[in-house]
Amino acid sequence: MTNLTRDEILALDRRYVWRPYTSHEDHAARDPVVVVRAQGVWLEDANGHRYIDASGSWWSSNLGHNHPRIVAAVRDQAETLLHCALADATHSEAARLAEAIIHTAPPGLARVFYSDDGSTAVETAIKMACQYWQQNGAPKRTRFVSLGGAFHGDTLGAVSVGGEPVFRRAFGPLLFDVVHMPAGNDDASWERAVTNLADLLRRDRDTIAGVVVEPMIQGAAGMRFWPASALAELRAITKEIDTFLIADEVFVGYGRTGPMWGVNHAGITPDFLATAKGFSGGALPFAATLATERVYEGFRGGRARALLHGHTFTGNPLGARVAREVLAIYRDESVLAGIPARTALIRACMDSLATRRGITNARALGMVGAVDLGGQGYLSDAGVAITDAARARGIHLRPLGDTIYVSPAINIPISDLTTLLSGLSDSINEVVAKV
Ligand SMILES: *Cc1c(COP(=O)(O)O)cnc(C)c1O
Repeated sequence: MTNLTRDEILALDRRYVWRPYTSHEDHAARDPVVVVRAQGVWLEDANGHRYIDASGSWWSSNLGHNHPRIVAAVRDQAETLLHCALADATHSEAARLAEAIIHTAPPGLARVFYSDDGSTAVETAIKMACQYWQQNGAPKRTRFVSLGGAFHGDTLGAVSVGGEPVFRRAFGPLLFDVVHMPAGNDDASWERAVTNLADLLRRDRDTIAGVVVEPMIQGAAGMRFWPASALAELRAITKEIDTFLIADEVFVGYGRTGPMWGVNHAGITPDFLATAKGFSGGALPFAATLATERVYEGFRGGRARALLHGHTFTGNPLGARVAREVLAIYRDESVLAGIPARTALIRACMDSLATRRGITNARALGMVGAVDLGGQGYLSDAGVAITDAARARGIHLRPLGDTIYVSPAINIPISDLTTLLSGLSDSINEVVAKV
């Protein structure tokens, strides 16, 4: 096999690839980083330049790239069993991972349904909730409630519960009816928003199938933080009217906000928990929807009551083997214990950026740090200049419009984190000083 040059790769990419979230004009005009290999938090491009993966490849690469134990697990599993559908068949990997993830999950979650990515994990929860009420005495419960600005994935069900208009506007007629609670912008307004939502839920209790949230941080919305107290209140009100709380932990799970799960901040257990991204250490498309025993029991009673839902690669052995190795690495390397020291460094950097003119909302939680540039929301290109300045310093950023953030591997070595944060500061200072 001969290696292609950087230019050959770019030519093929431009000629044949349709890139995600990218205008055709940007695809033609902006050179992406041509990555040839990666190790730890470092991406290496075709010119031999190295870049710190500041977003953790969209918040998934929680243990860094090519962790030796994950690479070994892939090799080992590939020798044995790459795939076998869970159709009248099972295998040790799906079974062992299910046990391992349930023992890691908030208490009360008891069953694991596997799928491929964050969108399918969320949609599976939505379909389970809908069918549960259909066949358990509350067939009018078909509406979902979600938070303004929420992002739950890009398939149509996930877009329906998503609250970011930019991702919804082309698909309006295809989306189902969802109540989007206006999001807050500080702790007090979040509290008010939840109080208003509680009134709505009490009034419409007979029609609400569930409430879907990203606990603690709305990721793609622009790293918007919201308080654990509001999450606890949402759990209380959903319990009071006996409807479901669906926690989309695709981003916030696996220590991204500090503890293993975002819901741990509020000490609650949701009825459903969706996990992906960090679930497979960002190495493979693999996901799961966890549900309580009550939900599972609601599908008992013969074939007509079964969940008629699945994916070709549901429970894929390679994904399951990797996901089990990820949990073992978290345990053996005490990954979560290393977070507070890293949060302190991230927070100190964000606090110092907060003193710059034009920078607002400096914030840090767990392994996320973010600032806003006061631009025009999601499609703003205010972040492009900073991305370029950072690239020249060996840092690969991926801003969300005018929100500049870091969300690196949870186990990023302290020295690499220091390099990342000082490079980020210098890049922002360079650009902000000019405006
Ligand atoms: C990324 C993300 C999703 C969608 O996951 P995909 O794997 O891209 O389908 C869903 N919810 C949240 C909170 C996410 O961050």
